[in-house]
Parts: sequence; C-alpha cells; structure tokens
Amino acid sequence: MRKVTIFGSTGSIGENTVDLIARTPELYNVVALTGGRNVARLAKQAIVLNAELAVTAFDDCYADLKAALSGTDIEVAAGADAIAEAADRKADWFMSAIVGAAGLVPGLRALRHGTTLALANKESLVTAGPFLLAEAEKYGATILPVDSEHSAVFQALVGEDMTAVERVIITASGGAFRDWPLEALENATLAEASAHPNWDMGQRITIDSASMFNKAMELIETKEFFGVAASQIEAVVHPESLIHALVGFKDGALMAHLGPPDMRHAIGYALHWPDRGHVPVERLDLAKIGSLNFRVADEGRYPALRIARDVMQTGGLSGAAFNAAKEAALDAFILGDIGFLDMARLVDKVLNRLQQQNGLSCDILTLDKVLATDHLARKTMQELMQNTPVH
Ligand code: NAD
Ligand code: MG
Repeated sequence: MRKVTIFGSTGSIGENTVDLIARTPELYNVVALTGGRNVARLAKQAIVLNAELAVTAFDDCYADLKAALSGTDIEVAAGADAIAEAADRKADWFMSAIVGAAGLVPGLRALRHGTTLALANKESLVTAGPFLLAEAEKYGATILPVDSEHSAVFQALVGEDMTAVERVIITASGGAFRDWPLEALENATLAEASAHPNWDMGQRITIDSASMFNKAMELIETKEFFGVAASQIEAVVHPESLIHALVGFKDGALMAHLGPPDMRHAIGYALHWPDRGHVPVERLDLAKIGSLNFRVADEGRYPALRIARDVMQTGGLSGAAFNAAKEAALDAFILGDIGFLDMARLVDKVLNRLQQQNGLSCDILTLDKVLATDHLARKTMQELMQNTPVH
C-alpha cells in the first residue's frame, strides 16, 4: 500500500485527488489530509479515506473538526505549523494543493524527506523555483507537475533530450472574458470573473484565468520547472481547452497533449507515475469535436503576460514579489476594493517600486528571502492602495 498525504484536500484539486484515491482504497494508506474552513468536508474525507490525521489551517476551526471526528480514531490538529508538521509523517506521495504562497512551506518540508511531491501549487515554483528544485535534488526528492499544461509538457518530454527542445507552447482558454471588448473589462464584476467557460476550479485560479494572471504564473512555472529560456516559452489562446500544451523540437515536430478539461488526468498521471493507470476521464471523440481553434495571446490585452516576461527576465526575488502582489490584488478585487483591471496596474506598481527600492535580483534564493519579499510586496500593495489613486 502506498502512503499518501494531501495538502489542501478540500479544494478543487484536493477533491479530485480524493476522488481518484477513493476508487481503489485498497491501494492507499492515507496519512494526512489538510483543509481550511470547510471542516465538514475535511471530516467526511478523513472518514471515507480512513486517514490517520486531519488538519485545519485555522485554530478557530479546531473545535468543530474535533467534534466532527469524535468517535473515530482520526487525530485532529490545527494551524499552519500543524500542516507543516504533517509533512514529517512518512508518506510516499504528497499532493501539494493548497492555494497561494501558503502551499510553499508544507511542500518544501515534504521534499526534505526525499519523497515524491505532486505539485499543483504553482505558487511554489513562481516564488521559489530555483530554491525548491535545489532542495529536491539535495534530498533526492521528485517533483511531478500537476498543473495541466505542465503535466502535458512533462508527458511530451518522456524519452526526449532537453537539448532537442526548441520551444514550449502552453495553451490558455482565455478565461471568462476572452470574447469581451477590452473597454468592458474595466467594470467586470466578481461574479463575472468567477465563471470559467471550460474548467471547474477554485475561485482564485478562476479569476486569475480571466485576468491571465494564471497564464502569467504558468509561463514562469514553465521556465522554472523545465529550465527553458523565457524566449522559448509561448502562450496561445485555445478556447476549447483540449490541447493543454505542446513541445516543439529542433526538427520542427510539435508534440501535443490532448485531453478533456478534467484535472483528474494530470493528477492521475502524477499518482500513477512512472506507470500509466486507469483514469476515469471522458474519452475525446475527435470527429465530434471537429475543429480546434487558436488565437494570439495578446500582451496588450493581457498585461499580466507582459509582467510575467519582466519577472522571468529579472528572476531572483521578482517571482516572490509578483506572486504576493498578485495575491494581494486579488484579495482586494474579491473584497470589491479595486476594479478588475486595477489588479495588473497595481501589481506593476508594486514590482516597479520594489525594483527601485530594494532591487529584486538575487543570486541564491533562500526560504527566508522569499518569505521576506512576499511580506514586503503585500505591505507595499497595502500602502499603494491607501495612498494613491489606482489609475
Ligand atoms: P481551492 O481554493 O479550491 O482549494 C484550496 C485548498 O487550500 C483548500 O483545501 C483550502 O482549505 C486550502 N487553503 C486555503 N488557504 C489555506 C491556507 N492559508 N493554509 C492552508 N490551506 C489553505 O484551490 P484549487 O483550485 O484546488 O487550487 C489549488 C492549487 O492548485 C492552486 O495553487 C492552484 O493554482 C493550483 N491549480 C489548480 C487547478 C484547478 O483545476 N483547480 C489547476 C491547476 C493548478
Ligand atoms: Mg493550468
């Protein structure tokens, strides 16, 4: 039996992971599940999967979780430290599916046990890519990409030599506003930004898809994970979301990965890797689909993509600053404090200010430097929102 732990089990990726594991429970020994405020869901998952430990991120949810699991022998804990400590319980496979920079430390701690980390938390690579990869190497751990585009690239690269790779193309659905006129985006509401045309995901990544911040993060993630140059990475809008990514080789061949927009294929690949296992996703009927469409991912329309290019060029701590500023801007948009397009304007301002004040390049990343930059970027965002008109 394989011992598995899921960080963020109550989220969209987490639930899909639980779904796959619950189909063949005899194969898995579930060590720990972690969640946030959705205590009822966490308790239910822990009971269904017979987990050893359930952890909520929030201290004030402890009593509810304890009550929901009373009468079982499932251990209960609460708080960020308890989540990180869950990484110290021996497991063969960890799913990193917490949303945001909060996912970095638990995943890192799991890597330091030389284990396999299925990485959905793209923020880990955006904020601390070179550091995370160096730690994985140091401790003999394996990172498997779970973001659908990166799983697709990973699969297209099996048996290939990286020196033969000319370019990597990741596709973007275009999100909720792909057909909106640019002028209308200024007044886009939270409800409109939270409705994805193709994928069923958590609210934050859904809004990031509408603003293309998600794709911006994924460009950086591609550079960090696969070690390709920024100039080799392209994004293209593909409204059907059936091709997840393509790898172009020096002989001109393009290897594409196709599948339905269902994260279980990427999660399943990481779960069964290096083998392929049965994954219950819909089988594509290409004749019925008929045609696939592609459009330019216009950096004028999507400023987040241009910002990602700047971040890739600066490197160092700019990814940590970018992610934190983006998270803070998203919080403000969700609260109704700023408009949809203000998010990119503010992220740009934070990055420019930090670049001028502190400089964001840095030769060797450390966790302390990443966390300090994350903190500084959030503080700077707060100051900017208080002191300056957004436009
Ligand atoms: P979600 O919002 O649905 O779930 C997030 C999970 O993290 C929940 O379990 C929640 O309780 C937990 N969480 C939230 N804040 C926390 C905190 N401060 N500390 C500890 N736990 C916390 O998010 P999601 O859509 O499942 O995305 C999870 C990660 O996977 C993100 O990094 C996202 O970018 C990435 N991802 C998601 C998808 C998708 O289809 N949903 C696809 C690719 C990548
Ligand atoms: Mg993705």
